[in-house]
Amino acid sequence: MLDVKNVCKSYSKPGSLLGKKRQEVLKDISFAVKTGECVGLIGESGSGKSTLGRLILGLERPDSGEIRIEGAPVSEWKKSHGGEMSVVFQDYTTSANPRFTVEEIIAEPLLGGRKSRSVTIDVRELLTKVELSTTLLGRYLHELSGGQLQRVCLARAISTRPRFMVLDESLSSLDVSVQAQILTLLRNLKGELHMTYLFIAHDLQTITNLCNQVIFLYQGEIAERLPSSRLAFAQNDYARRLLNSVILFDG
Ligand code: ADP
Ligand code: MG
Repeated sequence: MLDVKNVCKSYSKPGSLLGKKRQEVLKDISFAVKTGECVGLIGESGSGKSTLGRLILGLERPDSGEIRIEGAPVSEWKKSHGGEMSVVFQDYTTSANPRFTVEEIIAEPLLGGRKSRSVTIDVRELLTKVELSTTLLGRYLHELSGGQLQRVCLARAISTRPRFMVLDESLSSLDVSVQAQILTLLRNLKGELHMTYLFIAHDLQTITNLCNQVIFLYQGEIAERLPSSRLAFAQNDYARRLLNSVILFDG
């Protein structure tokens, strides 16, 4: 599904003359994700996770290396598969328009020349999929809880029936119990819609149940990459530190 090969990305440092001083944000990143797989991308704040997410979504281009989806460069793939890739960002409070109702937010990506009637039906179906009551259709964002709002964003993200979804710290700001509910939902959707996920997070807590593979990103480099079932065998210091903190937390 996704093939990331030798990707490098740098940004000019703020205040540097003519942008000459550059900060390397991603250094020689390579990995692949198979169809139907869920890959967890874990790293501390500033390690380059969101940058990698934006490159994969085709919102920015790498300095070198290449990213292919189903064999085609991202930009090409997007032209013929618009809507089949979607994203849920970290800050869901700013990722939806506060003047829109729940119905309008979810319907937005669907309104590609279709009659509003069929869209209404789709929106109801989508709400049911994310386990929200259809009585919320007319509500505005400030009338929803964090968990409800995140489900609305999820419903919008799956409205176009994407096959590939990037979730960038989408659950980080939610209570652990709500996170668990949404993770269960994501797992069910994965089975139902045969989706491939790239799940970005800064801790391991959330993702081990959902992901088949975990990539540890440390200062722009892949520090370790393991199947979830083999996390206990991590060699890298940073990965081990994270794993130990999880065991401490649980025990
Ligand atoms: P993460 O999502 O892991 O917290 P980011 O990918 O957001 O990390 O950022 C990685 C580094 O790249 C940070 O040091 C950040 O300041 C820098 N960075 C990200 N985007 C830009 C940009 N558009 N311009 C300049 N620097 C950026
Ligand atoms: Mg980020």
